[in-house]
Amino acid sequence: MNTNLIINGEQIQGVAATFAVINPADESVLVEVPSASVEQVNQAIETATVAFKTWKNTEDSEINSTFLKIAADIRAAKDEIAELITLEQGKTLAMAQFEVEAGASWIEYLTSLEIPVDTIADPSGKTIKVYNRPLGVVASITPWNWPFMIAIWHIFPALKTKNCVVNKPSEFTPLSTIKLVEIINRHVAQGVCSVVLGTGEVGATLSGHPDVAKVTFTGSTRTGQRILSSSVDSLKSVVLELGGNDVGIVLEDADLDRTAQGIFGSAFLNVGQTCAALKRLYVHESIYDELTEKLANIANSQVLGSGLDPEVTFGPIQNKIQYNKVKGLIADAVAQGGKIITAEKNVPEKGYFVAPTLITNVEQGVALVDEEQFGPVLPIVKYSDVAQVIEQTNQSEFGLGGSVWTTDIARGEKIASQMETGTVWINSHSDLSPAAPFGGWKSSGLGFSFGLDGLLLFTHKQAIHISQ
Ligand code: NDP
Repeated sequence: MNTNLIINGEQIQGVAATFAVINPADESVLVEVPSASVEQVNQAIETATVAFKTWKNTEDSEINSTFLKIAADIRAAKDEIAELITLEQGKTLAMAQFEVEAGASWIEYLTSLEIPVDTIADPSGKTIKVYNRPLGVVASITPWNWPFMIAIWHIFPALKTKNCVVNKPSEFTPLSTIKLVEIINRHVAQGVCSVVLGTGEVGATLSGHPDVAKVTFTGSTRTGQRILSSSVDSLKSVVLELGGNDVGIVLEDADLDRTAQGIFGSAFLNVGQTCAALKRLYVHESIYDELTEKLANIANSQVLGSGLDPEVTFGPIQNKIQYNKVKGLIADAVAQGGKIITAEKNVPEKGYFVAPTLITNVEQGVALVDEEQFGPVLPIVKYSDVAQVIEQTNQSEFGLGGSVWTTDIARGEKIASQMETGTVWINSHSDLSPAAPFGGWKSSGLGFSFGLDGLLLFTHKQAIHISQ
C-alpha cells in the first residue's frame, strides 16, 4: 500500500510521527502511515505557488483533455481503487465501485462546463467584460465517509478553474486519495496537485498558510468554524460543506413501496454516513404503521459483515469514535422511551458494526432527533399536521437537505418552498447532481458547490472596462 506524500509530482515519505489506518471491518491495522512535517506541508504550498504561474495560463481545451485522460485512468484502476476504499472505509465493494465510477463520470461532466465571460453594456456606451480568474493555491481537506468521491468534488473544480491544489485526506482514509493524486500527477505538471498526510497539525498548517488563497473543507461544523476563524487574518475565502440533519416528510398519498425503498436507500446510504442522508423521518399518522413495517422489513433483510464479502449488503461504521457516538444516541433514545422496531441482529464480534436501526416513539427534544447521528439509525416521528412539522423541523440549526414524499407533485413543491434547506428532493433524497448547486443553509455550510456555481467558487471576478 502506498503511504507516500505526493509533493511537486514526487512521491516522498512523511518525516513526522506515523499514524495507523484501521480496517473498520475487523479493527486490524492496515498500514502505518508517516505524517508530513510542517516543513513538508509548507513545501507542498511553495511548489503549488510556483506551478500556478504556468497552470493559470493553460488552455481550457488542454485542461478538458487532461481530465478525460485522468477519468480513463481511474476507470482502468477501478478494482484496485474500490478495494482500497472498502478496506479503509468499510463500505461494500459494490458501493466502492459505484464511488469510483461516479467519480470518473463527475470529472467527465466538468469538461462540458465553460467558465463564462460576461459582456455588460454600460449606460455610458463603454463595454465591460467580466472574467472569472483563478485564485492561486487551494487547500482541500476531505473526510472519511466518501473519501475518493469528495476528493474529486474538491480537487477538480479547483483545477478546472486553473488553481493548484494541496489536498489533505482524513487520517482515517488516506489510501484511495493517494491513488487519486498519483493518477492526477501522470497528467499534470509538477506542483499542480499535491497530497499531504497526517494528523494533528497538518490540516491547521494548510488552512492557516498565508499563501493559500482558499480553503475547501468537508466535515464537522466544529472544525469548519475553526477554519473560518483562522481565515480572518489573511481574509482567505472558505467553502464549508458541514453537517446536516435532513428531514423527510411522508404525506398521506405517498406510494409506500417506492417510498420505503427510497427512504431506506438514503437514510442508510453508506451506513448512514453521508452528509445529505435522510436523518429524521416524519410520517403521516394514516400511513405510519404500514410504512414503518415496510422499512423494518428492508432493514431486517440486510446482511452485515466485511464489505469485501459479496454477500454482504451492510458494512461497519468507519471509525470507533463515530461507532461510540451512534451507540450512545441509540441508548439515549431508548432511555427516553424510544422503541426499536428492527430485529436484533448478531453483529460480527470484531469491527464497528451496528445493524440498521429504526426507532419510533421519539420526538423533538431527544438527541437522536435534534442532532446529526451520521450512522445507521433513523428516528421516525408520527405527525398529523404537516404545517406544524415544517415549522418544527425548520428550527434545526442545520439546513442541508430535505425531502417530501407524495404523488401530488404540486403540493410537494409548495411544501418544499417552506423548507429552510439548500436542497429539497421530491420522492427521492441524497441523489446529488453534478449540474445543480449543492450546499447548506445555517450551520450546514458556506458556499454552494457543483454545477457552474461550484466552479465559480474558485475564481475572482475581474471586470475590464473598454472605452473605444
Ligand atoms: P472533522 O470534521 O473534525 O475533520 C477532521 C479533519 O479536519 C482532519 O483531516 C483534520 O486534520 C482537519 N482539521 C482539523 N482542524 C483543522 C484546521 N484548523 N484547519 C484545517 N484542517 C483541520 O472530522 P471527524 O473525523 O472528527 O468527524 C467529526 C464529525 O464530522 C462526524 O461525527 C460527522 O458528524 C461529521 N462529518 C461530516 C462529514 C460530511 O460529509 N459533512 C464527513 C465526515 C464527518 P488534522 O488531523 O491534521 O488536524
